[in-house]
Amino acid sequence: MRVAVYPGSFDPITYGHMDIVKRALKVFDKLIILISANPTKNSLFTPEERVDMVKVALKPCIDKVDVFISNELSVKETKRLGATHMIRGLRAMTDFEYEFQLTHTNRVLEKDIDSVFFMTDNKYSFLSSTTVKEIALFKGELGPFVPEYVEQKIKEKLNY
Ligand code: ADP
Repeated sequence: MRVAVYPGSFDPITYGHMDIVKRALKVFDKLIILISANPTKNSLFTPEERVDMVKVALKPCIDKVDVFISNELSVKETKRLGATHMIRGLRAMTDFEYEFQLTHTNRVLEKDIDSVFFMTDNKYSFLSSTTVKEIALFKGELGPFVPEYVEQKIKEKLNY
């Protein structure tokens, strides 16, 4: 069975992340979504809340997806979980620069773990969790970017 780890903040999950999951599941039999609990990042949602939103958003394919919280380096966690590949999404060239550094650093740390990159549908190529949170702060429309359940959770969190 081909298992890959998809690490990230998922604060919160967006249609961009979901599009990457859909594409990755055509290549891998199982995905482990690894939610980074990095306390240095200023997150809107707790790791547990993010797990809940990921599970609801990915309900149609949840039999092929596990969701875990991680306090470790993703590449080390990937090795520990017995997976061989990490999934990353690419939006624009700006993502490439960062992912290039990350992939080579990860190879130094764990030479057997490789990264696989997918590009989202063009309509999500500008979308990030950060953008969603900025729109939410100004009470903008969230429907085009996140599933209804996530929209509801953002609104509860920000009281609107
Ligand atoms: P961000 O805060 O940048 O949205 P995460 O840390 O949750 O993202 O991202 C996890 C992974 O998912 C990264 O590889 C990121 O590039 C990718 N990703 C996030 N949003 C998108 C999108 N709209 N299209 C493609 N990849 C995405």
